[in-house]
Amino acid sequence: MKRIEVVFDIPVDKTFDYLPGEFGDRIYPGARVRVPFGSQQKTGIALSVREEGVLKEESCKSVLRVYDSAPLVTGNLFSVASFLSDRYFTSTGKALFSIVGALPTRYSAECVESGGKKDFQGSGFNEKYVIPAGEGDRFECNRKIIPVPPCGSAVFLFPEVAQAEKYYMQARALYGERALLFHGELKPKDRIAAWLRMLSGENIILAGTRLAVFSPLRDIAVFALNNGYDSSYREQQTPKYDTCEVARFRASSMNVPLFFIDASPSVNSYFPIDKEIEPDKDPAESEVEIKKSIYILPVNRKSVDKKISFLSRETVSFLEETVLKGEKAALVHNSKGSSKILRCEKCGGRFTCAACDSGLILSEDGKNLLCRFCNTVAPFEKKCPSCGSRKVSERLCGIEKMFSVLKQEYPSVGISKVVSRTEIDAAADFSILIGTRAIKRYMGVFPFGLVVFVSGESFLNVPDYRSEEHFFIMVNEIFASLLDKGCKIIIQTRNPNMEIYRSLKENNPGIFLSKETLVRKQLRYPPFAEIVKVELKSRKAAVLMERKTLLESYFEQKNIEVMYSGPSFPPVKKGKDVWKYLFRPGSSFDRKEFSRILFETGASVDSNPDRI
Ligand SMILES: [Zn+2]
Ligand SMILES: [Zn+2]
Repeated sequence: MKRIEVVFDIPVDKTFDYLPGEFGDRIYPGARVRVPFGSQQKTGIALSVREEGVLKEESCKSVLRVYDSAPLVTGNLFSVASFLSDRYFTSTGKALFSIVGALPTRYSAECVESGGKKDFQGSGFNEKYVIPAGEGDRFECNRKIIPVPPCGSAVFLFPEVAQAEKYYMQARALYGERALLFHGELKPKDRIAAWLRMLSGENIILAGTRLAVFSPLRDIAVFALNNGYDSSYREQQTPKYDTCEVARFRASSMNVPLFFIDASPSVNSYFPIDKEIEPDKDPAESEVEIKKSIYILPVNRKSVDKKISFLSRETVSFLEETVLKGEKAALVHNSKGSSKILRCEKCGGRFTCAACDSGLILSEDGKNLLCRFCNTVAPFEKKCPSCGSRKVSERLCGIEKMFSVLKQEYPSVGISKVVSRTEIDAAADFSILIGTRAIKRYMGVFPFGLVVFVSGESFLNVPDYRSEEHFFIMVNEIFASLLDKGCKIIIQTRNPNMEIYRSLKENNPGIFLSKETLVRKQLRYPPFAEIVKVELKSRKAAVLMERKTLLESYFEQKNIEVMYSGPSFPPVKKGKDVWKYLFRPGSSFDRKEFSRILFETGASVDSNPDRI
């Protein structure tokens, strides 16, 4: 008698047995089924079909419906699901649903089983980093990776749908029907059509977003991730997977190479474990030496402009010169509203963490000092540690304020602003564009003569151990997307001597990346150690307390040293109190067992989170 083992999109890691009913031999592992579940019905995925000698039919219900006439999930993807389940503390069911859950269950096309094909032989796993000379060279860098003559499919991943679509259009022009697009915003019928084509096709050139890392293509010969450090590569829903890690797992298990095509070197690419960095240089272009003109301009009471208080006098004259020449200028800032930063007006002394010596930042309410590395929190004494001056914090104005000041100062100049989702007409007539990091996507649309980062501090002043790296990469990305390579970049800062600024100014990534790598190594941060963040939430204090007790007794019992246990930032989300733990799981850490504890406490979990 056949038993169908089914999993569901639920956090508990458990399988459920069903009888095939009227479907007999027509149910395959990897197909989606409709089954009775309690007093309701549920869609699940068949994990296995096994023959069982003993007949205990009364204990099992029968499958009501089979959606797929052939498996949607095939060989290698089952091991990806168990990787996701283990690595990101979730159930096999949730992992499988994150792979195929978004595909529609109703479709007219037939699934074609591509069985009988020979297993694809990979050419060997390795990781390579490629830095294109500019965004204009990205297509060419990706193109070079495609196996010639065709001997396997190539998977190209991009952080955003628009980038994947652009690459797809370019690839289609060159490779015709071999090109295929796959991302989460496709219409359901196009999504399933693309999936079915991947199941049976070969020698395909696939362009997609993070979802395409789960491509069921059987003959993948290479994976390529474009701008692998982009936060869009992290899934926000459980399992909160990191696309880079999934790509690495797949490439190594399929024995094929993995390429990172990045606008900027990063800690991961700089940290050399058998990795090569290849600056992409076309011999024909090598005479055109690209000179980065990055100016680091110190801002202090003496240097600021009288009327435009957020710019130094020097920046103002660069800005006016740009506008007078008829060129466009961009002002980039980190926050829409005002924010507070630390700095001593008198001596310029820095506030450093007593525990780990890195720079401290001011909490949003201005009451505490926070360390973005070791999570030390200390009350803010409002006194300079070096000279004792009381003038130690400063309010930075936000984009809205800057916008109105500039409008007032230059009434006849066209000024536009970009915050997160605003769209700017490609024909827009402006001289000055002001905005958050969302401004990045316009760098390749309009030619800019000047880009000003109004305050380096506003980007570094966030409680994230990677804030310096994020800022470093953003400046490099913006530089790579500029249409006018003669564009000047100005970074205004109160601490011009920091490594990050020297590194950018001297166009020497090693200055910053070697310092950053060393700090991460000493403080045992990723990529040198795994950090797990667990958050408990509840509206009721008693419930929260009960869950905390359960989790803390587990930590104690397993001898796990918790780096941080305290309120999250912000401490209340949607009316629920949020309590946060950070810890480093050791090598003997039992991930499955920990997943069960998490399930019991309803906690959310994130391994190597973007923000700790
Ligand atoms: Zn001071
Ligand atoms: Zn610290």
